Amino acid sequence: MRAVVMRKNKLVVDNVPVPTPGPGEVLVKTLACGICGTDLHALRFAETLGGGLARSGGLYGMDPNRDVVLGHEFCAEVVDYGPGTRKRFKPGTRVCSIPVLKRTKEGASIGYSNEHPGGFGEMMRLSENLLVGVPDDLPSEVAALTEPMAVGYHAVAKARLERCDVSLVIGCGPVGLSVIAALKLKGTTPIVAADLSPRRRQLAVEMGADMVIDPREKSPYEPVMAAEWPRLGSVITNLGSFLASDFPIKSDMKYLIKSFYRAFGSGRFAGRPAVIFECAGVPGVIDGIMFNAPRNARIVVAGLCMERDHIYPWFGINKQLSLQFVQGYSDEEFATTLRNIRKGKLRVQPLITGKVGIEGVAKAFEELRSPEHHAKILVEPWRN
Ligand SMILES: [Zn+2]
Repeated sequence: MRAVVMRKNKLVVDNVPVPTPGPGEVLVKTLACGICGTDLHALRFAETLGGGLARSGGLYGMDPNRDVVLGHEFCAEVVDYGPGTRKRFKPGTRVCSIPVLKRTKEGASIGYSNEHPGGFGEMMRLSENLLVGVPDDLPSEVAALTEPMAVGYHAVAKARLERCDVSLVIGCGPVGLSVIAALKLKGTTPIVAADLSPRRRQLAVEMGADMVIDPREKSPYEPVMAAEWPRLGSVITNLGSFLASDFPIKSDMKYLIKSFYRAFGSGRFAGRPAVIFECAGVPGVIDGIMFNAPRNARIVVAGLCMERDHIYPWFGINKQLSLQFVQGYSDEEFATTLRNIRKGKLRVQPLITGKVGIEGVAKAFEELRSPEHHAKILVEPWRN
């Protein structure tokens, strides 16, 4: 079969063997597979992703010196069954799956593996038990976005948001946009999002951000800083309603209170705890968030940084910050995400900005390095 092969940190088109489905496994034809930011990282940091993570007990045990067919955000069609299968779906049925092959308890990665080719090839093998059927009225390209959208859904679930939390999303690449969509789905407000790219800020609004900020113009922490002053926050809010009343008060005093009130905004976010999602995955960002975060903020790290980074624990200690790292999703979160996309509760269409065949993948990787053009490019391996 034809596939895009990652070989010695380059992408080449080559013929590779069609995978044989083992016991409990299904052979599928890839219909659409998204290019993920992690794939871009994998090409640059194959040793960290493969060797380093395997040594630290991670799931990805690939050898960067051998061929890898990437691609883990897919929608596929059932072609054939291996031995010992229940044949739940007829051949021709469209399915999604988490990119894991259940050969062992932990499972093996699909798409970051030397043995199990991912969706940038014409065929894959999947575990029958992990298949989720794709409803007939859902286009394959949209279904393929289940995986990246589940990432945001999981990050937001891990944040254990309360009704009064103020959310700030730092970085509006695919991970940040997925988090924004999940926050919107949860009904939390306000959602503040920051990115240097105008295109990404526009996408952030389309995905549900209430306020977008260019960090070169304004600090994204400003709207959440009121949360640092819980008592003061309620005083300001009360002053706001007091000013609206007819209570007689000296005009200069009224002016003073008014300026004070304005300086802290409307008091809308005052006293509310902040949850900050790190979705940039660039060295120094976690440190910057810890430096700028209000007291008691919770930081959820979803951006994938594969380089060594540094933090000053003192900032975190002094402000009693919580730091939570997140990755992936559960089987249930994945299935729920597909249902939410189907019901139109998660908007994904604005994210699809391009489609390529196998020959176009290397160029698409290059284009995705600039934030101004694309959000998600889908690979359709059978496309000419
Ligand atoms: Zn991904």
